[in-house]
Amino acid sequence: MRLGNVTLRFVSDGVYHEDGGRFFGLVPKVLWEPIVEPDERNRIPLAMRSLLIESGGQRILVDTGFGDKLSEKKRGHLSLYGQDRLVGSLQRLGIGPPDIDLVINTHLHRDHCGGNTRYNERGELVPTFPRATYCVQRLELADALFPNERTRATYRRQNYEPLEQNGQLRILWGDTRLTDEVRVIVTPGHTRAHQCVVIGSQGQTAIFMGDAASWPIHLERLAWVPAYDVEPLISIETKRSLARWAVENHVLLIFEHQPDVAAGYLHPTEKPDRFRLEPLELEEM
Ligand SMILES: [Zn+2]
Repeated sequence: MRLGNVTLRFVSDGVYHEDGGRFFGLVPKVLWEPIVEPDERNRIPLAMRSLLIESGGQRILVDTGFGDKLSEKKRGHLSLYGQDRLVGSLQRLGIGPPDIDLVINTHLHRDHCGGNTRYNERGELVPTFPRATYCVQRLELADALFPNERTRATYRRQNYEPLEQNGQLRILWGDTRLTDEVRVIVTPGHTRAHQCVVIGSQGQTAIFMGDAASWPIHLERLAWVPAYDVEPLISIETKRSLARWAVENHVLLIFEHQPDVAAGYLHPTEKPDRFRLEPLELEEM
């Protein structure tokens, strides 16, 4: 997919399964069930769609999925199968781990940065992308290094400590421009310093939403906030301003977690807190 001078491609770390109640928070099941039918364990499928950006001679990867360090037991819970899902997906595009220049983590929850690191043949924990600089928000890293009882289960030091030890970690202090065409903006709510990635070229703009809106429905209905957002009322305000900005500027929205909708344009409705996504028809990813 072209956006001005930038090439955008989707790469996948596979699909996992998550409790539907957690994913829709306060929304009763009778309202979310028509949108996605849960399995017999009340789970719904979530994609792990990373974005590969080619901008100004740099290859930038946004988010790295769960990666390959999970125990068999944990994989079973998630129904997540296969090795090298993300690396394999990159390889099918002819891109190897050393070809990635920059990795951006929207935040450090384990389904977004698990693929940052891997075990090598000697069983040592190393960065998956040996030449890359990994960009993480300062406050997100602080929250990840010192989690509390509620956030502990999703923050794993093995996903980010080796980056620092190898001198590959770049800590960002708020909104930051990374290339002429790529910048990050802090979009708090899901975590205190979640960041979205904005790509702009030749008058066209796209945004990678991460978990600011995991599925389009989270943006279409501002009150739909996942149970694990740490600041749910701030999530709503972040989504409100992102939605208005996207409508006014005809911004292409890219979604990380919905299996069958990767991107689209947002439109207003007659209700001020509701929007409608027009999905973009894309060839097979
Ligand atoms: Zn998350």
